[in-house]
Amino acid sequence: MPEGDTIYRAAQTLQRALAGSTVTGFRSVYPALTRIDHDRPLVGRTIESVRSVGKHLLMAFSGDLTLHTHMRMHGSWHIYRPLEGWHRPARDMRLVIDTARYVAVAFNVPVAELLTGDDLARHEALQALGPDLTDSTFDGLEVIRRARTRGTEQIQDTLLNQRVVSGIGNVFKSEVLFAAGVHPFTPTAAVDDVALTRLIDVARKQMAMSIAPREHSLSPATGRRTTGSLDPNEKLWVYGRGGKPCRRCGTPIRSKQTGADARLTYWCPQCQAARADAAESGH
Ligand SMILES: [Zn+2]
Repeated sequence: MPEGDTIYRAAQTLQRALAGSTVTGFRSVYPALTRIDHDRPLVGRTIESVRSVGKHLLMAFSGDLTLHTHMRMHGSWHIYRPLEGWHRPARDMRLVIDTARYVAVAFNVPVAELLTGDDLARHEALQALGPDLTDSTFDGLEVIRRARTRGTEQIQDTLLNQRVVSGIGNVFKSEVLFAAGVHPFTPTAAVDDVALTRLIDVARKQMAMSIAPREHSLSPATGRRTTGSLDPNEKLWVYGRGGKPCRRCGTPIRSKQTGADARLTYWCPQCQAARADAAESGH
């Protein structure tokens, strides 16, 4: 699943390839998009900027129009040269933006809409987002304030809530909790301000590590790393490592499916010492 670092890197790549270029072609399988394109055509507009906000991607065009996309579980943006073959089947195409030098293709992107500045200002999902971990003006105190509204909800669910903080997905969730030594099932109310601040600091640091430009890796899947190790086999602390020895203490990593969509959570029972009640009553 794309997390904040993936979307940030996608936005950077699109920005480098497209910003300043003129749209020469536009196609979409979404009738709402082609309808707007008919009334207010994209062709001829300049792509002004591409940026991420949490897991949302915003592509701004000249003349007060912005394309908002969200990847959800399976969406992705690709960049190709004109006439270059796509790495995904054409049936997965949701929209295509042509410029003279590049072609941007969105595959399996379930959310795509064209918005004016007024629409953006009124956009419920975008306006409700918590501070963005990749944002240079990130406000940690605001994250704490928002987390304090979550009561006894488990800290792992609070970290995933994009209205509390934007950018954390399921992988970062487990990694951040491990690095900060907090058990995933701890009620948010029982995580004090010191521990919450540590979680936020770790999340920013891990996000920064994952979005840092690297020479040999453009693929987000291979780019994510949280341990700081350069060994490709040691990129993550706990995620996907159920039953394997903890990198710090050797205790077998535990995993459990939680939540409505049965996402896996990973943790070290030794390094993330829990209140016993919190640890055993996970839903
Ligand atoms: Zn451990």
